[in-house]
Amino acid sequence: MKIVDIREVALPLQGQIANAVVNFAEHDVSLLALVTDVVRNGRPLVGLAFNSIGRFAQSGILRHRLLPRVQQAAPQSLLDDGGTRWDPARVLAIALKNEKPGGHGDRAGAAAAIELAVWDLNAKLADEPAWATLARACGRPVSLTPVDVYAAGGYYYAGGSGHSLGDELRRYRDMGYQAFKMKIGGASLTDDLRRIEEALTVAGAGSRLAVDANGRFDLASATAYAQAMAGYGLRWFEEAGDPLDYDLNRAVADLGLGPVATGENLFSCQDVRNLARFGGMRAGRDVFQMDPGLSYGIGEYLRMLEVLEQSGFSRRQCYPHGGHLINLHIVAGLGLGGCESYPGVFQPFGGYSPACRVEGSTVMPSDAPGFGLEQKPELSAPIAQLLA
Ligand code: MG
Repeated sequence: MKIVDIREVALPLQGQIANAVVNFAEHDVSLLALVTDVVRNGRPLVGLAFNSIGRFAQSGILRHRLLPRVQQAAPQSLLDDGGTRWDPARVLAIALKNEKPGGHGDRAGAAAAIELAVWDLNAKLADEPAWATLARACGRPVSLTPVDVYAAGGYYYAGGSGHSLGDELRRYRDMGYQAFKMKIGGASLTDDLRRIEEALTVAGAGSRLAVDANGRFDLASATAYAQAMAGYGLRWFEEAGDPLDYDLNRAVADLGLGPVATGENLFSCQDVRNLARFGGMRAGRDVFQMDPGLSYGIGEYLRMLEVLEQSGFSRRQCYPHGGHLINLHIVAGLGLGGCESYPGVFQPFGGYSPACRVEGSTVMPSDAPGFGLEQKPELSAPIAQLLA
């Protein structure tokens, strides 16, 4: 049983959208395939994954450093002791050979694409959805409960463009979503408050609307926004300031004006430990958004959860960044709080496949083997091209 080929392609994200800090028009994603000599239904079994969304493809790090190490490794060294499955931790360790600790950055996303593809492969070997493989591997009950979900988006639209924030959120509502997240910080406070009120006409209640500043604010601006938004009772205030400015996060939390959310730009359990120690995060209240696809995959994410639970937080406070199929399976398999969805943007990766039912503000993964990426219509052509 061996991996006979590894393929990677950088796929551009579709859409001309922007948040407070970046325009996504230039963003792309690494789609990765681990092709094996195992044959199922007359075809080679293939593990598929990608390095989350809202960042960049990692073709350089993958092709020049990580993938050659995996390709040159003895096939047996990538398997578990029984030789019946690939071992995600062993594959990752080989991919990261000769890499120094720390300095996580883009390498963490590149490595995650490989590690997650191994999980997809193992789930397909067992002919089961990835959430079930993950639950079993972690000693959790292999039973599926509906996953809390919100539609993320809420971008900026130029006046006279024919598009509006309200229209965007209404489209998500028509798809079955009842909770939403929108961007702030890309306009004046006055304009953003007007946008929040426009969004609330769709969400219906502040508890169904979160706002995301993408790390834009200094403490004075973050405080001004937190105070101005306090009356809306919003679900959370995400990444008010620089993701590594734990003291700013603590200061915003200490205002006591509502839940805060952060973590999508922390790529290691050491960073999460520092957030837990110094970031002022409150048990049972604030939200952790670390994303396995940006941070070495599921193994590192499990260590992050351990750090959080040892620090008195609940895994129900975790809503990973990245509204796509891989994180849906991870949330379902690990019993996390919920996940986001990008039903309108970040195609071909954003959102779920039609077989994943969205209703009553919850979503259920389908029973497709692995992460079910092949079931997503927008991904089927890129996957076919990658494997051709
Ligand atoms: Mg965010």
